[in-house]
Amino acid sequence: MFGILRGNCIYQKMKIIFYLCLVLPRLALAESNNPSVHYEVKVGDDLQSLEVSICFDHKLPPALFANDGSSTFVSNVRFNTGKVLEFELDRVNIPAAETGRCIFYDVLLIPRYRGEQRGGAETRLIDGREMLTSIGDWLLRPSSKTDYAEFDINFILPNGVYVSAPWSRLDKARFIGVNTAIEWEGIVAFSSQVPDTVDVNGSIFEVSILGEFQRATAADMSHWVRQSAEGVSALMGFFPRTKVQVIISPSDRTKTIVPWAYITRGGGAGIHLFVKRDANLEQLLWDFSLPHEMSHFMFPHIDSGDYWIIEGLPTYLQHLSMVKSGAITAQESWSRLYRGFASGKHTGRGYTVAESMRRLARRGTYLRVYWGGAAYFFQRDVDLRVQSQGAVTLLDVLLKYHECCYDEFRSISGDKLLSDLDVLFETDLFVRRKLVEIEIEEFPDFKATFEALGIQFLGAKPVFDEGAANGIAAQIMNPVGFDR
Ligand SMILES: [Zn+2]
Repeated sequence: MFGILRGNCIYQKMKIIFYLCLVLPRLALAESNNPSVHYEVKVGDDLQSLEVSICFDHKLPPALFANDGSSTFVSNVRFNTGKVLEFELDRVNIPAAETGRCIFYDVLLIPRYRGEQRGGAETRLIDGREMLTSIGDWLLRPSSKTDYAEFDINFILPNGVYVSAPWSRLDKARFIGVNTAIEWEGIVAFSSQVPDTVDVNGSIFEVSILGEFQRATAADMSHWVRQSAEGVSALMGFFPRTKVQVIISPSDRTKTIVPWAYITRGGGAGIHLFVKRDANLEQLLWDFSLPHEMSHFMFPHIDSGDYWIIEGLPTYLQHLSMVKSGAITAQESWSRLYRGFASGKHTGRGYTVAESMRRLARRGTYLRVYWGGAAYFFQRDVDLRVQSQGAVTLLDVLLKYHECCYDEFRSISGDKLLSDLDVLFETDLFVRRKLVEIEIEEFPDFKATFEALGIQFLGAKPVFDEGAANGIAAQIMNPVGFDR
Protein backbone atom coordinates (compact mmCIF):
# COMPACT_ATOMS: atom_id res chain seq x y z
CA MET A 1 0.00 0.00 0.00
CA PHE A 2 2.77 2.38 0.95
CA GLY A 3 4.72 1.52 -2.19
CA ILE A 4 1.77 2.16 -4.48
CA LEU A 5 1.10 5.60 -3.01
CA ARG A 6 4.73 6.57 -3.27
CA GLY A 7 4.82 5.42 -6.87
CA ASN A 8 1.82 7.57 -7.65
CA CYS A 9 3.48 10.62 -6.12
CA ILE A 10 6.64 10.28 -8.08
CA TYR A 11 5.38 9.23 -11.50
CA GLN A 12 1.86 10.51 -11.97
CA LYS A 13 2.41 14.01 -10.57
CA MET A 14 -1.29 14.50 -10.26
CA LYS A 15 -2.14 17.53 -8.15
CA ILE A 16 -4.51 15.63 -5.90
CA ILE A 17 -2.04 12.83 -5.18
CA PHE A 18 0.69 15.37 -4.49
CA TYR A 19 -1.62 16.98 -1.98
CA LEU A 20 -2.48 13.67 -0.35
CA CYS A 21 1.11 12.48 -0.11
CA LEU A 22 3.01 15.62 0.83
CA VAL A 23 0.68 18.22 2.21
CA LEU A 24 -1.62 16.09 4.33
CA PRO A 25 1.00 14.51 6.58
CA ARG A 26 2.32 17.98 7.39
CA LEU A 27 -1.14 19.19 8.28
CA ALA A 28 -1.65 16.17 10.50
CA LEU A 29 1.62 16.86 12.29
CA ALA A 30 0.79 20.51 12.80
CA GLU A 31 -2.62 19.59 14.12
CA SER A 32 -1.19 17.25 16.75
CA ASN A 33 0.76 20.22 18.13
CA ASN A 34 -2.25 22.49 17.98
CA PRO A 35 -5.05 20.94 19.99
CA SER A 36 -8.55 21.89 18.88
CA VAL A 37 -9.97 21.77 22.43
CA HIS A 38 -9.14 24.64 24.79
CA TYR A 39 -9.75 24.80 28.52
CA GLU A 40 -9.48 27.73 30.84
CA VAL A 41 -9.75 27.12 34.59
CA LYS A 42 -10.05 30.08 36.95
CA VAL A 43 -9.13 28.97 40.45
CA GLY A 44 -10.72 30.84 43.38
CA ASP A 45 -8.73 32.06 46.41
CA ASP A 46 -10.22 29.22 48.51
CA LEU A 47 -8.83 26.69 45.93
CA GLN A 48 -12.27 25.04 46.06
CA SER A 49 -14.27 27.04 43.53
CA LEU A 50 -13.30 26.74 39.87
CA GLU A 51 -14.80 28.41 36.82
CA VAL A 52 -14.16 26.29 33.75
CA SER A 53 -14.62 27.01 30.05
CA ILE A 54 -14.11 24.58 27.17
CA CYS A 55 -13.98 25.86 23.61
CA PHE A 56 -13.89 23.71 20.49
CA ASP A 57 -12.35 24.88 17.18
CA HIS A 58 -14.50 22.45 15.23
CA LYS A 59 -17.62 20.37 15.75
CA LEU A 60 -18.82 19.82 19.32
CA PRO A 61 -18.58 16.26 20.65
CA PRO A 62 -21.86 14.42 21.38
CA ALA A 63 -21.13 14.36 25.13
CA LEU A 64 -18.66 15.33 27.85
CA PHE A 65 -17.71 12.87 30.59
CA ALA A 66 -16.32 12.81 34.14
CA ASN A 67 -16.49 10.46 37.17
CA ASP A 68 -19.88 9.25 38.33
CA GLY A 69 -19.41 11.29 41.52
CA SER A 70 -18.71 14.55 39.67
CA SER A 71 -22.35 15.74 39.65
CA THR A 72 -21.94 16.74 43.32
CA PHE A 73 -19.11 19.13 42.38
CA VAL A 74 -20.11 20.41 38.93
CA SER A 75 -23.02 22.80 38.34
CA ASN A 76 -24.44 25.36 35.96
CA VAL A 77 -23.21 23.73 32.73
CA ARG A 78 -24.18 26.11 29.95
CA PHE A 79 -23.37 27.36 26.44
CA ASN A 80 -21.95 30.76 25.70
CA THR A 81 -25.48 31.50 24.45
CA GLY A 82 -26.74 31.02 28.02
CA LYS A 83 -28.54 27.75 27.23
CA VAL A 84 -28.29 25.30 30.17
CA LEU A 85 -27.26 21.65 29.79
CA GLU A 86 -28.42 18.82 32.08
CA PHE A 87 -25.82 16.81 33.99
CA GLU A 88 -26.65 13.08 34.05
CA LEU A 89 -24.62 11.08 36.59
CA ASP A 90 -21.25 11.15 34.77
CA ARG A 91 -21.98 13.06 31.56
CA VAL A 92 -23.49 16.03 29.79
CA ASN A 93 -25.14 15.25 26.46
CA ILE A 94 -24.78 17.92 23.79
CA PRO A 95 -27.64 18.38 21.28
CA ALA A 96 -26.49 17.69 17.70
CA ALA A 97 -28.04 20.92 16.40
CA GLU A 98 -26.11 23.12 18.81
CA THR A 99 -24.08 25.83 17.09
CA GLY A 100 -22.22 27.33 20.07
CA ARG A 101 -18.50 26.63 20.37
CA CYS A 102 -17.89 27.14 24.09
CA ILE A 103 -19.28 25.48 27.21
CA PHE A 104 -18.96 26.96 30.70
CA TYR A 105 -19.48 25.41 34.12
CA ASP A 106 -18.81 25.98 37.81
CA VAL A 107 -17.10 23.63 40.22
CA LEU A 108 -17.27 23.62 43.99
CA LEU A 109 -14.89 20.96 45.23
CA ILE A 110 -15.92 19.20 48.44
CA PRO A 111 -12.54 17.91 49.61
CA ARG A 112 -12.04 15.20 52.17
CA TYR A 113 -9.89 16.23 55.07
CA ARG A 114 -10.53 13.59 57.75
CA GLY A 115 -8.80 10.21 58.01
CA GLU A 116 -6.05 9.05 55.72
CA GLN A 117 -6.25 8.42 51.98
CA ARG A 118 -5.93 4.72 51.10
CA GLY A 119 -7.25 4.46 47.56
CA GLY A 120 -6.41 6.11 44.25
CA ALA A 121 -6.73 9.76 43.29
CA GLU A 122 -9.15 11.80 45.39
CA THR A 123 -10.08 15.40 46.14
CA ARG A 124 -8.59 16.26 49.51
CA LEU A 125 -7.48 19.29 51.48
CA ILE A 126 -3.92 18.85 52.80
CA ASP A 127 -2.93 20.57 56.05
CA GLY A 128 -5.96 22.82 55.74
CA ARG A 129 -4.61 24.89 52.86
CA GLU A 130 -3.35 22.92 49.85
CA MET A 131 -5.65 21.15 47.43
CA LEU A 132 -5.30 17.76 45.84
CA THR A 133 -7.91 17.05 43.16
CA SER A 134 -8.86 13.97 41.21
CA ILE A 135 -9.25 15.16 37.60
CA GLY A 136 -12.28 12.91 37.09
CA ASP A 137 -14.15 14.81 39.82
CA TRP A 138 -14.32 18.07 37.88
CA LEU A 139 -12.78 18.03 34.38
CA LEU A 140 -15.50 17.32 31.78
CA ARG A 141 -13.94 15.78 28.68
CA PRO A 142 -14.96 14.30 25.31
CA SER A 143 -14.58 10.52 25.06
CA SER A 144 -10.94 9.52 24.48
CA LYS A 145 -12.11 7.31 21.60
CA THR A 146 -13.23 10.33 19.56
CA ASP A 147 -11.27 12.84 17.45
CA TYR A 148 -10.53 15.00 20.49
CA ALA A 149 -7.12 13.45 21.23
CA GLU A 150 -5.43 16.48 22.75
CA PHE A 151 -6.35 19.67 24.55
CA ASP A 152 -4.63 22.70 25.96
CA ILE A 153 -5.46 23.95 29.43
CA ASN A 154 -4.71 27.30 31.02
CA PHE A 155 -5.08 27.87 34.76
CA ILE A 156 -5.70 31.34 36.16
CA LEU A 157 -4.29 31.04 39.67
CA PRO A 158 -4.46 33.18 42.80
CA ASN A 159 -1.16 34.88 43.72
CA GLY A 160 1.38 32.50 45.27
CA VAL A 161 -0.38 29.34 44.09
CA TYR A 162 1.34 26.74 41.87
CA VAL A 163 -0.37 24.02 39.86
CA SER A 164 0.86 20.46 39.35
CA ALA A 165 -0.63 18.36 36.53
CA PRO A 166 0.26 15.17 34.64
CA TRP A 167 0.24 16.93 31.23
CA SER A 168 3.12 18.51 29.30
CA ARG A 169 3.95 21.87 30.80
CA LEU A 170 4.18 24.92 28.50
CA ASP A 171 4.74 27.46 31.27
CA LYS A 172 3.80 28.18 34.90
CA ALA A 173 0.09 27.60 34.37
CA ARG A 174 -0.41 26.19 30.84
CA PHE A 175 -0.27 22.58 29.67
CA ILE A 176 -0.96 20.42 26.63
CA GLY A 177 -2.76 17.22 27.61
CA VAL A 178 -3.46 13.88 25.98
CA ASN A 179 -7.10 12.96 26.41
CA THR A 180 -6.67 9.52 27.98
CA ALA A 181 -9.56 7.23 28.98
CA ILE A 182 -11.92 8.88 31.50
CA GLU A 183 -11.45 5.96 33.94
CA TRP A 184 -7.67 6.50 34.06
CA GLU A 185 -7.16 8.53 37.20
CA GLY A 186 -5.07 11.69 37.28
CA ILE A 187 -4.21 14.41 39.79
CA VAL A 188 -4.19 18.18 39.61
CA ALA A 189 -2.85 19.84 42.77
CA PHE A 190 -2.77 23.47 43.91
CA SER A 191 0.11 24.19 46.27
CA SER A 192 1.74 27.22 47.85
CA GLN A 193 5.16 25.59 47.38
CA VAL A 194 7.14 26.03 44.15
CA PRO A 195 7.55 22.66 42.38
CA ASP A 196 11.12 21.43 41.81
CA THR A 197 12.32 19.86 38.58
CA VAL A 198 14.64 16.86 38.65
CA ASP A 199 16.21 15.88 35.33
CA VAL A 200 17.50 12.30 35.14
CA ASN A 201 19.16 11.94 31.74
CA GLY A 202 16.33 13.74 29.96
CA SER A 203 13.42 12.34 31.97
CA ILE A 204 11.81 15.20 33.87
CA PHE A 205 10.38 14.60 37.35
CA GLU A 206 8.34 17.51 38.63
CA VAL A 207 8.19 17.28 42.42
CA SER A 208 5.37 19.10 44.23
CA ILE A 209 5.14 19.06 48.00
CA LEU A 210 1.79 19.59 49.72
CA GLY A 211 1.78 20.35 53.43
CA GLU A 212 4.55 20.55 56.01
CA PHE A 213 7.32 18.11 56.94
CA GLN A 214 9.33 18.22 60.13
CA ARG A 215 12.72 16.85 59.08
CA ALA A 216 12.99 16.24 55.33
CA THR A 217 13.49 19.47 53.36
CA ALA A 218 12.34 20.10 49.79
CA ALA A 219 15.95 19.44 48.72
CA ASP A 220 15.84 16.07 50.55
CA MET A 221 12.65 15.13 48.71
CA SER A 222 14.25 15.99 45.35
CA HIS A 223 17.35 13.99 46.33
CA TRP A 224 15.12 11.00 47.13
CA VAL A 225 13.35 11.30 43.75
CA ARG A 226 16.63 11.67 41.86
CA GLN A 227 18.37 8.73 43.50
CA SER A 228 15.32 6.45 43.10
CA ALA A 229 14.92 7.47 39.45
CA GLU A 230 18.61 6.82 38.76
CA GLY A 231 18.24 3.31 40.20
CA VAL A 232 15.19 2.55 38.03
CA SER A 233 16.85 4.17 34.99
CA ALA A 234 19.84 1.85 35.45
CA LEU A 235 17.58 -1.17 34.78
CA MET A 236 17.07 -0.43 31.06
CA GLY A 237 19.59 2.41 30.65
CA PHE A 238 16.89 5.12 30.74
CA PHE A 239 13.69 5.91 32.62
CA PRO A 240 10.65 4.51 30.75
CA ARG A 241 8.81 7.89 30.75
CA THR A 242 10.04 11.33 29.73
CA LYS A 243 7.78 13.24 32.13
CA VAL A 244 6.64 12.22 35.62
CA GLN A 245 4.49 14.19 38.05
CA VAL A 246 5.49 13.47 41.67
CA ILE A 247 3.28 14.61 44.57
CA ILE A 248 4.38 14.22 48.18
CA SER A 249 2.00 14.82 51.08
CA PRO A 250 2.33 14.19 54.84
CA SER A 251 0.87 11.39 56.92
CA ASP A 252 0.49 11.46 60.71
CA ARG A 253 -1.19 8.20 61.72
CA THR A 254 1.60 5.83 60.88
CA LYS A 255 4.78 4.18 62.02
CA THR A 256 5.91 3.32 58.49
CA ILE A 257 7.91 5.83 56.48
CA VAL A 258 5.70 5.69 53.38
CA PRO A 259 2.35 4.29 54.56
CA TRP A 260 0.67 4.65 51.17
CA ALA A 261 1.60 5.41 47.56
CA TYR A 262 -0.02 4.88 44.17
CA ILE A 263 0.54 5.77 40.54
CA THR A 264 -1.78 7.41 38.03
CA ARG A 265 -1.63 7.17 34.24
CA GLY A 266 -4.40 9.59 33.21
CA GLY A 267 -2.83 12.33 31.03
CA GLY A 268 0.67 10.98 31.75
CA ALA A 269 2.71 9.38 34.52
CA GLY A 270 1.96 10.44 38.10
CA ILE A 271 3.16 9.20 41.50
CA HIS A 272 1.57 10.26 44.79
CA LEU A 273 3.40 9.39 48.00
CA PHE A 274 2.26 9.82 51.60
CA VAL A 275 5.28 10.34 53.79
CA LYS A 276 5.49 10.17 57.58
CA ARG A 277 5.65 13.80 58.65
CA ASP A 278 8.88 13.38 60.66
CA ALA A 279 10.71 11.08 58.21
CA ASN A 280 14.32 11.97 57.37
CA LEU A 281 16.23 11.49 54.11
CA GLU A 282 18.05 8.37 55.30
CA GLN A 283 14.74 6.67 56.11
CA LEU A 284 13.27 7.70 52.76
CA LEU A 285 16.18 6.22 50.82
CA TRP A 286 15.93 2.95 52.79
CA ASP A 287 12.22 2.62 51.95
CA PHE A 288 11.14 0.64 48.87
CA SER A 289 7.97 2.57 47.98
CA LEU A 290 9.28 5.13 45.50
CA PRO A 291 11.46 2.69 43.48
CA HIS A 292 8.45 0.34 43.51
CA GLU A 293 6.03 2.98 42.18
CA MET A 294 8.53 4.12 39.55
CA SER A 295 8.97 0.51 38.37
CA HIS A 296 5.26 0.35 37.49
CA PHE A 297 6.12 2.48 34.44
CA MET A 298 8.46 -0.23 33.11
CA PHE A 299 5.38 -1.78 31.48
CA PRO A 300 2.06 -0.39 30.18
CA HIS A 301 -1.34 -0.22 31.85
CA ILE A 302 -2.79 -3.71 32.31
CA ASP A 303 -6.58 -3.77 32.18
CA SER A 304 -7.19 -7.44 33.01
CA GLY A 305 -6.90 -7.19 36.80
CA ASP A 306 -3.80 -9.43 36.80
CA TYR A 307 -2.42 -7.98 40.03
CA TRP A 308 0.18 -10.72 40.26
CA ILE A 309 1.82 -9.13 37.17
CA ILE A 310 0.88 -5.49 37.91
CA GLU A 311 2.38 -5.68 41.44
CA GLY A 312 4.69 -8.68 41.14
CA LEU A 313 6.98 -7.17 38.52
CA PRO A 314 7.64 -3.88 40.43
CA THR A 315 8.01 -5.85 43.68
CA TYR A 316 10.86 -7.81 42.10
CA LEU A 317 12.41 -4.88 40.18
CA GLN A 318 12.47 -2.52 43.20
CA HIS A 319 15.19 -4.75 44.72
CA LEU A 320 17.41 -4.57 41.64
CA SER A 321 17.00 -0.80 41.25
CA MET A 322 17.70 -0.05 44.94
CA VAL A 323 21.02 -1.89 44.68
CA LYS A 324 21.85 0.06 41.53
CA SER A 325 21.02 3.40 43.15
CA GLY A 326 23.17 2.51 46.16
CA ALA A 327 20.21 2.75 48.57
CA ILE A 328 20.77 -0.80 49.84
CA THR A 329 23.54 -3.40 49.51
CA ALA A 330 23.21 -6.60 47.47
CA GLN A 331 23.15 -8.58 50.74
CA GLU A 332 20.29 -6.50 52.12
CA SER A 333 18.43 -6.87 48.83
CA TRP A 334 18.71 -10.69 48.79
CA SER A 335 17.57 -10.79 52.36
CA ARG A 336 14.54 -8.56 51.64
CA LEU A 337 13.61 -10.78 48.68
CA TYR A 338 13.88 -13.92 50.78
CA ARG A 339 11.78 -12.52 53.63
CA GLY A 340 9.21 -11.20 51.17
CA PHE A 341 8.84 -14.52 49.34
CA ALA A 342 8.54 -16.32 52.68
CA SER A 343 5.80 -13.91 53.86
CA GLY A 344 3.91 -14.45 50.60
CA LYS A 345 4.16 -18.21 50.89
CA HIS A 346 2.96 -18.29 54.50
CA THR A 347 -0.01 -15.92 54.29
CA GLY A 348 -3.20 -17.13 52.64
CA ARG A 349 -2.04 -20.75 52.48
CA GLY A 350 -4.14 -23.27 50.61
CA TYR A 351 -4.78 -20.97 47.65
CA THR A 352 -2.81 -20.52 44.43
CA VAL A 353 -1.62 -17.02 43.52
CA ALA A 354 -4.42 -16.81 40.92
CA GLU A 355 -7.06 -17.77 43.52
CA SER A 356 -5.60 -15.32 46.05
CA MET A 357 -5.97 -12.60 43.43
CA ARG A 358 -9.70 -13.24 43.21
CA ARG A 359 -9.92 -12.83 47.00
CA LEU A 360 -7.62 -9.79 46.98
CA ALA A 361 -9.70 -7.67 49.34
CA ARG A 362 -9.12 -10.17 52.17
CA ARG A 363 -6.43 -9.53 54.68
CA GLY A 364 -3.11 -11.12 53.84
CA THR A 365 -3.91 -12.33 50.34
CA TYR A 366 -2.33 -9.26 48.77
CA LEU A 367 1.04 -10.38 50.19
CA ARG A 368 0.62 -13.71 48.44
CA VAL A 369 -0.30 -11.97 45.16
CA TYR A 370 2.53 -9.37 45.24
CA TRP A 371 5.23 -11.79 46.36
CA GLY A 372 3.92 -14.71 44.31
CA GLY A 373 4.18 -12.50 41.22
CA ALA A 374 7.62 -11.27 42.30
CA ALA A 375 8.79 -14.89 42.76
CA TYR A 376 7.50 -15.76 39.28
CA PHE A 377 9.48 -12.89 37.66
CA PHE A 378 12.55 -13.69 39.77
CA GLN A 379 12.44 -17.26 38.43
CA ARG A 380 12.02 -16.07 34.82
CA ASP A 381 14.98 -13.73 35.26
CA VAL A 382 17.11 -16.59 36.59
CA ASP A 383 15.88 -18.98 33.83
CA LEU A 384 16.85 -16.49 31.12
CA ARG A 385 20.25 -15.73 32.65
CA VAL A 386 21.13 -19.38 33.30
CA GLN A 387 20.01 -20.53 29.82
CA SER A 388 22.01 -17.78 28.10
CA GLN A 389 24.95 -17.86 30.53
CA GLY A 390 24.19 -14.32 31.57
CA ALA A 391 23.75 -12.91 28.05
CA VAL A 392 19.96 -12.38 28.29
CA THR A 393 18.12 -11.03 31.36
CA LEU A 394 14.57 -10.07 32.26
CA LEU A 395 15.69 -6.44 31.82
CA ASP A 396 16.67 -7.18 28.20
CA VAL A 397 13.20 -8.58 27.64
CA LEU A 398 11.60 -5.44 29.10
CA LEU A 399 13.90 -3.21 27.04
CA LYS A 400 13.00 -5.05 23.85
CA TYR A 401 9.32 -4.81 24.77
CA HIS A 402 9.73 -1.10 25.38
CA GLU A 403 11.29 -0.58 21.95
CA CYS A 404 8.73 -2.54 19.97
CA CYS A 405 5.45 -2.43 21.81
CA TYR A 406 5.21 -0.06 24.76
CA ASP A 407 2.40 2.47 24.34
CA GLU A 408 1.94 4.65 27.40
CA PHE A 409 -1.62 5.58 26.47
CA ARG A 410 -2.92 2.06 25.71
CA SER A 411 -4.04 -0.82 27.91
CA ILE A 412 -3.19 -4.45 27.30
CA SER A 413 -4.19 -7.64 29.08
CA GLY A 414 -1.78 -9.52 31.33
CA ASP A 415 -1.93 -12.57 29.04
CA LYS A 416 -1.10 -10.44 25.99
CA LEU A 417 1.93 -8.99 27.77
CA LEU A 418 3.24 -12.47 28.65
CA SER A 419 2.69 -13.83 25.13
CA ASP A 420 4.38 -10.73 23.63
CA LEU A 421 7.40 -11.32 25.90
CA ASP A 422 7.53 -14.94 24.69
CA VAL A 423 7.35 -13.88 21.02
CA LEU A 424 10.23 -11.41 21.49
CA PHE A 425 12.60 -14.15 22.62
CA GLU A 426 11.08 -17.05 20.64
CA THR A 427 10.25 -18.96 23.79
CA ASP A 428 7.14 -20.18 25.58
CA LEU A 429 8.61 -19.67 29.04
CA PHE A 430 6.39 -16.82 30.27
CA VAL A 431 3.02 -18.31 29.29
CA ARG A 432 3.91 -21.94 30.12
CA ARG A 433 5.31 -21.21 33.55
CA LYS A 434 2.40 -18.89 34.45
CA LEU A 435 0.05 -21.87 34.19
CA VAL A 436 2.24 -23.95 36.52
CA GLU A 437 3.41 -21.39 39.09
CA ILE A 438 0.41 -19.05 39.28
CA GLU A 439 -2.58 -21.29 38.49
CA ILE A 440 -1.66 -24.89 39.44
CA GLU A 441 1.00 -24.95 42.15
CA GLU A 442 0.38 -23.24 45.46
CA PHE A 443 3.30 -20.83 45.28
CA PRO A 444 6.37 -20.45 43.02
CA ASP A 445 9.26 -22.56 44.35
CA PHE A 446 11.61 -19.68 45.18
CA LYS A 447 13.82 -21.91 47.34
CA ALA A 448 14.76 -23.91 44.24
CA THR A 449 15.57 -20.66 42.42
CA PHE A 450 17.88 -19.51 45.23
CA GLU A 451 19.49 -22.99 45.17
CA ALA A 452 20.09 -22.68 41.42
CA LEU A 453 21.93 -19.42 42.17
CA GLY A 454 24.01 -21.03 44.93
CA ILE A 455 22.41 -18.94 47.69
CA GLN A 456 21.34 -20.38 51.05
CA PHE A 457 19.88 -18.46 53.95
CA LEU A 458 20.85 -18.52 57.58
CA GLY A 459 17.76 -16.92 59.04
CA ALA A 460 17.31 -14.17 56.45
CA LYS A 461 21.07 -13.75 55.89
CA PRO A 462 22.31 -14.89 52.48
CA VAL A 463 25.25 -17.30 52.34
CA PHE A 464 26.84 -17.75 48.94
CA ASP A 465 28.21 -21.12 47.71
CA GLU A 466 31.51 -21.22 45.95
CA GLY A 467 30.90 -21.91 42.26
CA ALA A 468 29.86 -20.75 38.85
CA ALA A 469 26.26 -19.94 39.82
CA ASN A 470 27.58 -17.07 41.91
CA GLY A 471 28.31 -15.15 38.74
CA ILE A 472 24.59 -15.04 37.89
CA ALA A 473 23.66 -13.97 41.45
CA ALA A 474 26.24 -11.18 41.35
CA GLN A 475 24.94 -10.13 37.95
CA ILE A 476 21.35 -9.84 39.26
CA MET A 477 22.24 -7.67 42.27
CA ASN A 478 24.76 -5.64 40.36
CA PRO A 479 25.54 -2.32 42.03
CA VAL A 480 26.88 -0.83 38.80
CA GLY A 481 24.38 1.93 38.41
CA PHE A 482 23.25 4.56 36.04
CA ASP A 483 25.70 6.54 33.95
CA ARG A 484 25.27 10.12 35.19
ZN1 LIG B 1 2.51 -1.25 43.22
